[in-house]
Amino acid sequence: MTTRLRAGSATEVGRVRSVNQDSKLLTDGIYAVADGMGGHQGGEVASALAIEVLDDAVIEPTVESLLEAAQAANAAVFEKASEKTELTGMGTTLCALQLVEAGDDEEIAWVSVGDSRIYLFRDGTLIQLTTDHSLVEDLRRDGQLTDEEAAIHPQRNILTRALGIDPDVVIDAKTVIPYRDDRYLICSDGLFNEVQESLMAATLRRIEDPDEAAAELVRLANEHGGRDNITCVIVDVIDDGGRSEAASKALAASEVVSAERGERTSQEAGKDGAPGDEVTSVVPRTADADGTDDRTAYSTPAVPRQGDDDLWDRAVPGSPEDHFSRGLGRGRVKHLTWRVLAFVFALLVIAGAAVGAIGYFARNTYYVGYRGDLVTIYKGTPSGELWFKPTVERTTQIARTQVPVEYRDDVAKGKKQPSLGKALDYVQNLRTIIDQRATATPVTPPTTAPTSAPVGPTTATPPAAPATTPP
Ligand code: MG
Repeated sequence: MTTRLRAGSATEVGRVRSVNQDSKLLTDGIYAVADGMGGHQGGEVASALAIEVLDDAVIEPTVESLLEAAQAANAAVFEKASEKTELTGMGTTLCALQLVEAGDDEEIAWVSVGDSRIYLFRDGTLIQLTTDHSLVEDLRRDGQLTDEEAAIHPQRNILTRALGIDPDVVIDAKTVIPYRDDRYLICSDGLFNEVQESLMAATLRRIEDPDEAAAELVRLANEHGGRDNITCVIVDVIDDGGRSEAASKALAASEVVSAERGERTSQEAGKDGAPGDEVTSVVPRTADADGTDDRTAYSTPAVPRQGDDDLWDRAVPGSPEDHFSRGLGRGRVKHLTWRVLAFVFALLVIAGAAVGAIGYFARNTYYVGYRGDLVTIYKGTPSGELWFKPTVERTTQIARTQVPVEYRDDVAKGKKQPSLGKALDYVQNLRTIIDQRATATPVTPPTTAPTSAPVGPTTATPPAAPATTPP
């Protein structure tokens, strides 16, 4: 084991209730919070029993062992509740995490049932890893409640899953790759129902010592009402055996940087699709006059959702839903690759179309210029377009010096024409002017009285502009 953890905790009864029905565990490398429910001491018994059995039942550091221990805790609470009438209907939430073996490496495995939560505080961001198994969360996820409405909903204490209610329970289990400076916060609803997550994050950022940070979170919950028992367990990753450095180098060298960001997003999104969201047992939580949880439990059999099989009972390592960090990371890379390919393909299509248009323009326009000293019709544009260089279309016998003076600049620059016909018309017009002027020159000065009619046009006649010349 190269990963080292450090943990701290705090718990208080709060300002309204008389009994603390929360229990916590910070021994044998297992960290857990259980929030018990049930009158006549049932809640205390349920949470304490779940924690005790969990601690005893974990026989090896694997996610399977942790999950089996949580199932054993469920069986123990259910059995105890069946034995004593006064404990009938008791139950408890359970959130637990443990450093486990994962091949040659290590991971943090967590299990959850009920509405206690596990958060990951990484790089200044607080991420809720667990999904609340509550009626309000189901409604929120279905879009029937906004986050704000869910936070104050009067029925937010109704659980859809808890330990001890049924002989079988679906327990969520996942693993996370631990990196140095990660902080895990396991807490009962007495914390997050009173303290906003932004304040929880600020506290985790501000206070380094896990005991002190846990105590501060509990104090804040009390300050904001303290209407329930409050329990916080904070687990810090203080050494990861160089995993974060290795990951940073790998991330910096590849697009996995994006995947890492997507991992968290996917992780959040993945909660929506997490198996076990269906109602398996409905457990209204209400408070007794003495402030303890009392519950008239009614339940339906735990029914794994179609297609889930026993995935979440087994939490098969390497399955798509587990190991979400790496699994979704890979999916993200694949997703990105397809998007990049599609984007590149679209760019190529656009670029190809642009080149085609330019080529069409370049190869379907003409100009009249010089080739050596002869007026020549070129196909293309005078400067060429991209790699489409102008080519000689027709040569003429009109010499540079014959070109009417007023046309010389235009021809020298290359007089553009929209078609070969127009270019030929332009050249013909030049030739006509040249011929007219040649006929009129030299102008023989009259030596006698002028005859009845002049001979042809004179040089004083301005040449007609070529009709084909575009403006
Ligand atoms: Mg509670």
